[in-house]
Amino acid sequence: MASSMGTLDRSVVERIVRQVAQEYLGNGKKSAAPTLVVQASSRHMHVCRADMDILFGPGTELTIDRPLHQDGFYAAKEMVTIVGPRSRIISNLRILGPMRPQSQVELAFTDAIMLGFQDIPVRISGDIAGTPGAVIVGPKGVVEMKEGLIRAAIHVHMGPGDAAYYGVTKGDRMKLRIGGEAGLTFNNVHVRIDPKSKLNVHMDTDEANACGLHLTKDIELLK
Ligand SMILES: [Zn+2]
Repeated sequence: MASSMGTLDRSVVERIVRQVAQEYLGNGKKSAAPTLVVQASSRHMHVCRADMDILFGPGTELTIDRPLHQDGFYAAKEMVTIVGPRSRIISNLRILGPMRPQSQVELAFTDAIMLGFQDIPVRISGDIAGTPGAVIVGPKGVVEMKEGLIRAAIHVHMGPGDAAYYGVTKGDRMKLRIGGEAGLTFNNVHVRIDPKSKLNVHMDTDEANACGLHLTKDIELLK
């Protein structure tokens, strides 16, 4: 008797556990926060086909040094030297691939100061109209960029599912709260949505150093 009750109890309990587990996991899928990866982007250049031809030689291609978090993007082996307005230079400026329709250089504010710029505008990547230019020196030639130097605005890449989770749309701005000893909150994190994107915040090295990004895992993205 005791043993048959035990069997019954166990089967009932197992069924309940299964139901609860399924409900729990099902709900979990809908409500669990997506995994957030926050990264500092060091200064770098994006290069167009025409400038690639001049800097590295006609028809040359970028070679992958290291894949980036977003699929299809990479740090290239190719590097250039950038020359600022008072002939100050930064060498070993890394190119990120793939190539783009327009060349662009993304610098942290301290990089710009070091190069001799008073200031460079904070822009979303690709929005370079009216920005300062610079001279770029590659192994095979020199390009004088008329414009294209920016401080990249802090931004979050996400897919449509993440956007639905946070209740945001393209162009919205979110908050990024960084905890820890040097913690601070960024109030203007630009939302960029692409079906291929993984949830990923990009800030520059000045911003990362200011908030001690490397010191904490207590990070929260908020609407
Ligand atoms: Zn980015």
